Amino acid sequence: MTKIIDGKAIANEIKQEIKKDVAKLEQEYGKKPTLAVILVGNDGASEVYVRMKKKTSEELGINSLQITLDESTTQSELLKLIHELNSDTNVNGILVQLPLPSHIDENIIINAIDPIKDVDGFHPINLGKLVIGSDDSFVSCTPYGCQELIVRNVPDLKGKHLVIVGRSNIVGKPLANIMLQKNERANCIVTICHTATSDIGYYTRQADILVVAVGKANMITKNMVKPGAVVIDVGINRIDDLHNPGKTKLVGDVKFDEVSEIASAITPVPGGVGPMTIVMLMKNTVKAFRLQNKI
Ligand code: NDP
Repeated sequence: MTKIIDGKAIANEIKQEIKKDVAKLEQEYGKKPTLAVILVGNDGASEVYVRMKKKTSEELGINSLQITLDESTTQSELLKLIHELNSDTNVNGILVQLPLPSHIDENIIINAIDPIKDVDGFHPINLGKLVIGSDDSFVSCTPYGCQELIVRNVPDLKGKHLVIVGRSNIVGKPLANIMLQKNERANCIVTICHTATSDIGYYTRQADILVVAVGKANMITKNMVKPGAVVIDVGINRIDDLHNPGKTKLVGDVKFDEVSEIASAITPVPGGVGPMTIVMLMKNTVKAFRLQNKI
């Protein structure tokens, strides 16, 4: 029978571990991790994400510093704030909520964050460290969450064929590098498909583990999946709900109803990868605290 991977339940388990860890750090060292989240402007979805990050931080005992700036904030004003947070020893993690208003260059902002506080894992130093398999770095939260779901659902990863559809800098590429590393939480054979792949099904049908991060509703169908594969659906797409005229619903990149008939395990959307992303951000924040305090 196909296992439906409950991302929410796994995220809750990890939250409890982090909560205990934070309480222990506070008891032993008299201080606890602090995460600064910067929001520029008033994009509705970004406001929701920032609120969720604050709520989760507080739930786990992590200090949350939320800085909301006006849409008209200049790039140099934002850079000045980041430099201040970089040198503030009370701040362990810095996250700038993306996307930024179009007059601000996201790359310049990401590059300005001190890599040891870059809990989103987007800084080129952290990406480089990920490629060489260095431990003192941060892995971006969504692929880190995918790894956690894979590890918990595939007993022996060594030599398993992982096929990833999508090569973005925030999901596909980091995940490929994570799962390629020579350690027991990875050690996979990795294939990445993208828009230049002429027959995606040819590759996805070879996958023991299939991760899809494309942003195209229901793109992966049953005939593209090997029976018994573990399927992780990162995609989040809003489509019209045919059963409720006038309403919309969220679906993934995988046609869940039919692929769940043959997969050995599969993540639903919502409730699969989504809940893991915030919890891995909290894990990174605790790691930042440890690295900075040399604990
Ligand atoms: P991007 O748009 O940055 O990247 C999409 C990737 O998919 C690109 O590499 C693109 O290829 C590839 N692609 C697009 N169309 C096709 C196609 N028809 N065939 C093969 N490959 C294709 O998206 P993101 O990585 O940022 O996000 C992907 C999805 O995951 C989105 O739905 C997003 O909402 C969701 N997401 C969910 C998160 C969560 O927490 N659950 C977090 C982050 C993202 P090419 O490079 O050739 O253009």
